[in-house]
Amino acid sequence: MRQTELLISLKNLKKNLQIIKTNTSSDIQAVIKANAYGLGYNEVVECIENDVESFAVITLNEAISLRKYTNKPITLLQGVHEISDYDYIEKYNLDFVVHTHWQVENLSKFNLNQSRIWFKLNTGMNRLGFDQKDFGDVYEKLKSLKAKDLIIMSHLAASSEPENKLNNAQIKLFNEITAGATNKKSLANSGAIFNFPNAHFDIVRSGIAIYGGKYLENGLKPVSKLRSKIISIRKVKKGECIGYDGAWIADKDCRICYAPIGYADGIPYFSSCRKINIDGKQFLTVGKVNMDLIAINLENDNSIKVGDWVEFWGFEDDLTKFSKNFDTISYQLMTNLSGRVEKNYLE
Ligand SMILES: *Cc1c(COP(=O)(O)O)cnc(C)c1O
Repeated sequence: MRQTELLISLKNLKKNLQIIKTNTSSDIQAVIKANAYGLGYNEVVECIENDVESFAVITLNEAISLRKYTNKPITLLQGVHEISDYDYIEKYNLDFVVHTHWQVENLSKFNLNQSRIWFKLNTGMNRLGFDQKDFGDVYEKLKSLKAKDLIIMSHLAASSEPENKLNNAQIKLFNEITAGATNKKSLANSGAIFNFPNAHFDIVRSGIAIYGGKYLENGLKPVSKLRSKIISIRKVKKGECIGYDGAWIADKDCRICYAPIGYADGIPYFSSCRKINIDGKQFLTVGKVNMDLIAINLENDNSIKVGDWVEFWGFEDDLTKFSKNFDTISYQLMTNLSGRVEKNYLE
């Protein structure tokens, strides 16, 4: 079997929830969109179900599959994508966001007594959500429906940047718009859990923090390790080229090893040299990332053998720092991993 795997520490996952709980007294919604940020939502849900008040996904298909594994509330973070989706919301008792007018029209035709409506406001990100001027009308309309509950929410655009003025402007506007409403409220994503305690309100919506992909300075633990076993090593002479388009040329005699992992596994495509670990030592990739392989320059290190593990990131790594090496963000590295990468869970 190809030895290219994502190891997932359920212990650290659980620990991260405990750490989040020491940082907030609000209820926690676990955002498990994109297959729990690549970690596998079945296993993640089973591990943390008792620690959270609800789950959140993007697509109806995710929500319907997830319904088999949990009776807790499941929120569709973008709400319906077409009106007929409300039939499934009824059938599977789903919670849903409303962020724009067409989603609210015709809502009274559906039986929503098992669904909580998440009324989304635009407080400055200018992505999804109702503007302040529309709050009153839409609020009255939503209150008149017989839904199980009505929660008011918004989303912060810059919660990972404590100094960014947008945060307090958004928090202030959210407070202002919702001042007269006694409903439950939700504003914080992972960044705000640590950086903006005044944005916690009743329910915090945490994704990346649970998965240890960011904010490790707050004690969170890395949850995953991506590694691939070397399948070939060859000697290359000075002046010889490596791989597609002969993109890299050896400037001295060296040993090149190959790991069976490529862009089809979710490694971002690049053609410049990037740092990578083998047996605790750092080496550089050479040439272009292939669909199924990556070449790494071992220089004159004779200790590395076929069968050794090439480690991309591990349980000691801050994925946010690591991702900079690949010109990306931890969120993308995690969610990009394809189904071809074996997932193995550690207790
Ligand atoms: C993805 C998402 C979150 C979670 O964000 P993190 O930064 O991963 O904590 C919270 N709220 C909404 C609306 C989202 O789309």
